[in-house]
Amino acid sequence: MTNLGNAVSHSLFISDLHLCASRPAITSAFLKFLQNIANKAEQLFILGDLFEYWAGDDDLNHADHAVIISAIKTLSNSGTQVFFIHGNRDFLIGQQFAAATGAKLLKDPSEVNLYGKRIMISHGDELCTDDSRYQAFRLQVRSPEWQQDFLSHPLSARKAQIEVLRLQSEQEKSNKSLEIMDVNEAAVRALLRHHAYPELFIHGHTHRPNTHNIEIDGHHCQRIVLGDWYEQGSCLRLDENGIYHQAISF
Ligand code: MN
Repeated sequence: MTNLGNAVSHSLFISDLHLCASRPAITSAFLKFLQNIANKAEQLFILGDLFEYWAGDDDLNHADHAVIISAIKTLSNSGTQVFFIHGNRDFLIGQQFAAATGAKLLKDPSEVNLYGKRIMISHGDELCTDDSRYQAFRLQVRSPEWQQDFLSHPLSARKAQIEVLRLQSEQEKSNKSLEIMDVNEAAVRALLRHHAYPELFIHGHTHRPNTHNIEIDGHHCQRIVLGDWYEQGSCLRLDENGIYHQAISF
């Protein structure tokens, strides 16, 4: 990324790191990314699924989390603004996380204006409308009532329940077609229309990094899907000159 000129003002977008204790190489790559790459950016947008799961903000001080939280805090203290949109794995991230990291929580989707471009950002799971079972689950767990009830249970009980849900989801995924787990084109177009045709729409979730050019009602929109952090890290850089994909080796 140094080659692109860190003196040029730019913003970075990442998603789907799925940080967890069982994949320590990804956590250390993320920490290095924060220290050496993200610190050169004006803004860092984390578009969901930073963590493999998040049981509640009372888990902030867990040793696995504390090092990550403090590294994000160091970044935001150094002058890079950090923004976060919930993923389907870490939708329970709340205001205590925001306070501890200095990150600002944004609603999904949100619009931002950067370098003369109007940009919509999202995690992306809400667009997978072909997966009706998931959408029903999403509606349930995103309700304040469900969250209040869930968070009233002890942390250990919540983690146990999440583990059950994760195993169920893994089993279900193996029975679902790839098409069902991708975004629905009509849902994408409806969203672009609803938001008056942003030039760029950036999201993650599907783990299918790509750039889709969409012609809609006489407008041109680009839908950019971010890559995940499994085989390597992945980051999108935006500046006044354009858009660049950057792989981050572990
Ligand atoms: Mn996701």
